[in-house]
Amino acid sequence: VKGHSAFVDHTGHVIAHPNAEWMREIRDISDWPIVQAMLAGNTGVTSFYSPFMQGNMVAGYAAVPDVGWGVMVPQPEAEIAARVHSLMLSHLVWAIAGLLLAIVLAILLARWIIGPLDQLARAGRQLMHGGLQGNLPAVRSDAPQEVRELGTVMRALIAGLQGSRDEISKLNESLQKRVDEATRQLRDSNHKLEKLARRDSLTELANRRHFETSLAKALSRRSGDVNEVCIMLLDIDHFKQINDVYGHAAGDAVLNHIARVLEQGMRAQDLVARYGGDEFVAYMRCTHEVGMQRAREIRNAIDQYAVSWNSRNIHITVSIGLYYQDLQEGVDVNALLDNADNAMYKAKRQGRNRVVDISH
Ligand code: GH3
Ligand code: MG
Repeated sequence: VKGHSAFVDHTGHVIAHPNAEWMREIRDISDWPIVQAMLAGNTGVTSFYSPFMQGNMVAGYAAVPDVGWGVMVPQPEAEIAARVHSLMLSHLVWAIAGLLLAIVLAILLARWIIGPLDQLARAGRQLMHGGLQGNLPAVRSDAPQEVRELGTVMRALIAGLQGSRDEISKLNESLQKRVDEATRQLRDSNHKLEKLARRDSLTELANRRHFETSLAKALSRRSGDVNEVCIMLLDIDHFKQINDVYGHAAGDAVLNHIARVLEQGMRAQDLVARYGGDEFVAYMRCTHEVGMQRAREIRNAIDQYAVSWNSRNIHITVSIGLYYQDLQEGVDVNALLDNADNAMYKAKRQGRNRVVDISH
């Protein structure tokens, strides 16, 4: 507002100035540095103290070459400073407004992107914790394209995982079935093997080993009220001759015949076994008298009924040794069997086809 222009001639006298007095005097200001600069033909901007304005001025100046005049346009420094200040203030306001806008936009943008991402992540975590039950919810349709794609990919991945898991559980199920079936078969086989291990393969009676362990067990516990045992050892008379005359197969048939007769003579708590070769053994939980009677019946039965073989009748006799033991007196399995064996040999020596009892 207080800015003005002034002209000086080539001698540094004012020829145009808003101050009328200055004009009247044709005031000489040639000693002013700005005027000297113009008279030297320079053009530029400088600052100086103006006694007229009583303040510092900023002035643009230029020399007018042909006439040697100078033109300057001083402006109070305070006015320029105020202008600069107001300009700076308005820039600051704009900058802050821009910053706030940027912040708001950033927050909105972040919400727009992070919101659906967070929702996806949370749903995914829930699915994992819940053993992949259910589906991943669809991403909002106004979410960014990339996030929607991420949702689609995750859904496909989860569907794949669910498929694999179902397949694995099906496989597990069928594997479990096969394991169960194999276990059952193994158990059956074991059962059969155990049975076989206890049996004599020809007669299917118990074998010697099973007989001895079973006798030891039977003697270690009372069987009802019966607290006594009879051991019966039976050997076929002249069995070698049967093999020689009729053949080995006939010998086998005879062994089987004897086995069946013996089986029929046993009771639930008794056990009969093939002791080896043409020897059979039995333990019977009965009194001395009953044991003797049953041994005699067996000898009679064998003597009475011939074995028919290839339309020939094979007559067989057996020698039986019997040994009775009262279990209260204490027992030794080997001693029992030895005594029965001795009794059987005695029967052989006495002429075979008989029952000998050496119990005291
Ligand atoms: P003894 O009256 O003195 O008993 O005369 P033995 O001829 O019966 O004599 P011994 O008891 O020693 O003979 C047993 C025979 O039994 C000998 C063997 O060849 C025969 N033998 C053993 N095991 C079997 C078998 O599994 N099958 C057949 N067929 N014969 C067998
Ligand atoms: Mg014999």
